[in-house]
Amino acid sequence: MEAVLQTYGLCKRYRRFTALENVNMHVPKGAIYGLVGKNGAGKTTLIRVICGLQEPTAGDYTLYGARLGDKALHRARRRMGAVVETPSLYPDMTAEQNLKLQYRVLGLPEDKGIDGILELVGLSNTGKKKAGHFSLGMKQRLGIAVALCGDPDFLVLDEPTNGLDPQGIVEMRELILQLNRERQITVLISSHILDELAKLATHYGFLDGGRLVRQVTAQEVEAACRKCLRATVTDAHALCLVLDQLGLPYAVAGDNQVDIYQQVNVTQLVDALSQKGCQLLSLKERDESLESYFINLVGGERGE
Ligand code: ATP
Repeated sequence: MEAVLQTYGLCKRYRRFTALENVNMHVPKGAIYGLVGKNGAGKTTLIRVICGLQEPTAGDYTLYGARLGDKALHRARRRMGAVVETPSLYPDMTAEQNLKLQYRVLGLPEDKGIDGILELVGLSNTGKKKAGHFSLGMKQRLGIAVALCGDPDFLVLDEPTNGLDPQGIVEMRELILQLNRERQITVLISSHILDELAKLATHYGFLDGGRLVRQVTAQEVEAACRKCLRATVTDAHALCLVLDQLGLPYAVAGDNQVDIYQQVNVTQLVDALSQKGCQLLSLKERDESLESYFINLVGGERGE
């Protein structure tokens, strides 16, 4: 799939500390790419590097096919909008004034599009209220509005739901989905709130200790997290034969364990197994969340 962003062996070192190690990341056009990692995993560093706010120590990346160092990268960067860490807003200015200023910075004709952007992010009724008096959710949305000046088709958001209340989180989710679906904006979003990310992301990159330990599509995560019955038996081979006979979908999960992806008639299963000299030791329902998928991947507790 066509890549908006591709990194090649990206590394970032601070003296002896390695914040990013050989990161090969592929953000396809049209994706909502969820960048997942514990505190200190390197999410912000990676975002800062691809936004051109920091130089990588080694490695390379392309943005819309333009390589780091190419003249074309400057043009490609204009197709990108970003909110990194806290949105950079002028607190003494209204929402409209903040956008007008950004238009001036970008050298764009002032009034064109500002009302539309304010409407899109749900801030068209804020009138004379100064950004400094906005709620956190409003500030985040204004930050996105500023990033939308210049009509980008790639939006990078670093922890946009951090500190938001439940309503703010829902509004942010709806806004991101709307930008992606209606304006075909590719979104790269880092987040700690994995269950929230699961409602949005089409692709995931899992960062741990500066390494991209896995990069998968949402379908692959869904398949891995699929609801199933985990059967533990004395002979997994016998269980597979029985499941084949019964026409039930399954996957071998371990030496004596098989995941069955359909409801089973337990009596029928036990009878068929006993004819093959196999005992059913346990049958447990499993429904893995993105959170537990992540913890299984990187190990240990997730930092907050
Ligand atoms: P968080 O969710 O806490 O923001 P993160 O995944 O975004 O975490 P980064 O902010 O990218 O993590 O930091 C990655 C690591 O690099 C951390 O251990 C951090 O202490 C270290 N680091 C970041 N900036 C610097 C710097 N300027 N000098 C030295 N170390 C740094």
